[in-house]
Amino acid sequence: MRFKWLKKRFTFMVIPDANSHVVRFRLTGWMLSLMTLFIALLAALAVTFYIIQSRSSGTNLLLTHKLVGVTEQFEQTVSEKNTTIEQLQNDLVRLSQQADQVKNKIEELKKLEIEMKTLTGISGGDKPVSILSASPAGSASANMGGDYNPVTDNAIRGLIDDTEQQFDMLGKEIDGLFGTLTETKKQVEEMQHMLAITPNIWPVDSRAVSSGFGVRIDPFNYSPSFHNGMDIAGRNNDPVFVTADGTVITAGWDKSEGNHLVVDHGNGLRTQYMHLNEFLVKKGDKVKKGQQIAKMGSTGRSTGPHLHYGVIKNGVVIDPRPYLKASRKEEP
Ligand SMILES: [Zn+2]
Repeated sequence: MRFKWLKKRFTFMVIPDANSHVVRFRLTGWMLSLMTLFIALLAALAVTFYIIQSRSSGTNLLLTHKLVGVTEQFEQTVSEKNTTIEQLQNDLVRLSQQADQVKNKIEELKKLEIEMKTLTGISGGDKPVSILSASPAGSASANMGGDYNPVTDNAIRGLIDDTEQQFDMLGKEIDGLFGTLTETKKQVEEMQHMLAITPNIWPVDSRAVSSGFGVRIDPFNYSPSFHNGMDIAGRNNDPVFVTADGTVITAGWDKSEGNHLVVDHGNGLRTQYMHLNEFLVKKGDKVKKGQQIAKMGSTGRSTGPHLHYGVIKNGVVIDPRPYLKASRKEEP
């Protein structure tokens, strides 16, 4: 009974207007149902399509927004990286310039070392062979100009290689310089020591040499005799200075030398100071070149206030005069 109407026929009439023919068409229940179903399906499809379309356009919008965001972020990152690269390149250029400056400083140090050797008379005026290429002095480094040409990656890589090589060479140069400077320092110290123990200053302020070294007429018996030192006349209690670093090995009296001091300087050298009025040091004292050790007098076999100064080299009395090259105040 339910599907009975499907077999029924339905007549539809379409009346366009009063003067036209009426159009009729007949449809069975089946056809009517199918048509209805078809229309419903079409409607459902249309709705679905509309929904999908609107959803996807929403998604597209969202994706577009996201893409724009990501692109902006990316561009910012790239820009930051570019800034960093530029800074690094600037740092590299500065570093390379610093290497040049250090190089110049090392050259100056070498010149200084040569000057030092010349001044101290240390042999070996050998010019150090530089493994660095000569470069112009950087004194006028602020004066510059020219076109701006952006630097290429290759140029930067080249600069990195050059700078690395330069620092490598600088390291070797510094090591070498350190070695030679240490050697020079040792030589200078040795020289200073030799200078300190060499009796080369005047033992008194007076330069009045009253009797030189060698054969002379004896002031007491007027016969030729050998004078084993030099006499420097002065006043009683004039300061007497030791002529080199050393140790007092004798501080005594006898009737010929009067109050006398002997100072040992090492290296086979000794100095003698005779006819003193007063000692300011005692046996065993360490003395420094130029230090006052006594007061001038006329004790012993003496005709008046003077210092008898003698130099002994390897046990032999020698003429002290050639040693007296410097004044006490000029030389340490
Ligand atoms: Zn004398």
